[in-house]
Amino acid sequence: MKRIALLLLIATPLFAQTLDERVSRELDSLLVMYKALHAAPELSTQEAKTSAFLAQHLRELGYDVTERVGKYNDPNATCYGVVAVMKNGAGPTLLVRTDMDALPVTEQTGLVYASMNSGVMHACGHDVHMTTLIGTAKILADLKSQWRGTLMLVGQPAEEVVKGAEGMLSDNIYERFGKPDFAIALHDWAALETGKIGYHTGEFLAATDSINLTIRGVGGHGAAPHTTKDPVVLAAETIVALQTIVSRERPPLLPAVVTVGKIEGGTKRNIIPDEVKLYLTVRTFDPALRQHIVESIQRIPKGLAIAAGMPDDLMPLYEHVDGESVAVTYNDPALTTRVANAMTGELGKANVVEVDPAMVSEDFGLFGVNRQIPTTLLAIGAADPAKLAAGTQPGLHSSKFSPFDPALTLKTGVRGAVSAVLELLKR
Ligand SMILES: [Zn+2]
Ligand SMILES: [Zn+2]
Repeated sequence: MKRIALLLLIATPLFAQTLDERVSRELDSLLVMYKALHAAPELSTQEAKTSAFLAQHLRELGYDVTERVGKYNDPNATCYGVVAVMKNGAGPTLLVRTDMDALPVTEQTGLVYASMNSGVMHACGHDVHMTTLIGTAKILADLKSQWRGTLMLVGQPAEEVVKGAEGMLSDNIYERFGKPDFAIALHDWAALETGKIGYHTGEFLAATDSINLTIRGVGGHGAAPHTTKDPVVLAAETIVALQTIVSRERPPLLPAVVTVGKIEGGTKRNIIPDEVKLYLTVRTFDPALRQHIVESIQRIPKGLAIAAGMPDDLMPLYEHVDGESVAVTYNDPALTTRVANAMTGELGKANVVEVDPAMVSEDFGLFGVNRQIPTTLLAIGAADPAKLAAGTQPGLHSSKFSPFDPALTLKTGVRGAVSAVLELLKR
């Protein structure tokens, strides 16, 4: 009896390592990769080096990797999508996505591995997602005896401009690499403590409409406004009037956001310009409200232009930027529950929690092709618990955002993702 117990003790680390132990062993090298990615961010549609880095690591792990998958409307633009496939006998196909792009933000985290590319920053944690995917790929390559089917890892470019998923799909990835039976993705979350994973069944992230307005006028000398029709004043009135869409036109129980995030106009203080440009983002969940708001954004500026005495040929120009607009991200309830249960088994009940929907948007849902393929996007906690409690946690896209305790963030992400894959591709 004693001898058997002793043998078991010796044998345990070699043959029956827990997932926690396996991931812990990879953590140092994952952190090195994470810091390298964090220091070298690339903007949406320009992910040449980032995608090559991801492809190289996945290839070294034995995956069949194809680079530059995808195409954009502009035939001169390169779509840097990566598809890495590992076939492991008969069984379902699972797509696991990471995004790869960074944001036009000047980093102010003060980290020693802060961005070396001035004005560009991984402020949305896509560096966390890529590193988590590489860690997941490594463990699953080691654990081939524990799953079956096909693992299809996708490195998606241009998530921040919601173009990359569409770009990859329009390059027929499912015809070329196989159609998945389900698709999952993880995105870091600044409203959830590091060490936890969040899930939400049903509608999780909002639809986005990107809209450009050009408020036109008749320019002239700043000292003679009566000889002009001032588009700056009209743009200011328009911005304020647009706020009444959410406050006065929206059914109060339906969430919506109308934000004018960028204004462009004028050259000098004493010159009244000919036009001012407004760049809007609209977020909704309800399709009818989405339509209503888009119509209001055409009606209100036009009404104000008429009130300002603009002639017919100087009415505001409205442009809906289709390529930067996307539908609601919907988490298939059965798939989400199954994945969340598997993650709970690995991480414990306290660490896998339901999270609220959010007004941010994603194009990951497009991989579900009009909900033909069940998809779910989960949240990896990245917040400092103390800052979260104090209300001082920087959000995603902030120049001060970085995941709290990156080692724990990555470890949680990899343990969660591996347990999800082992459930969905179980033998
Ligand atoms: Zn983002
Ligand atoms: Zn993001």
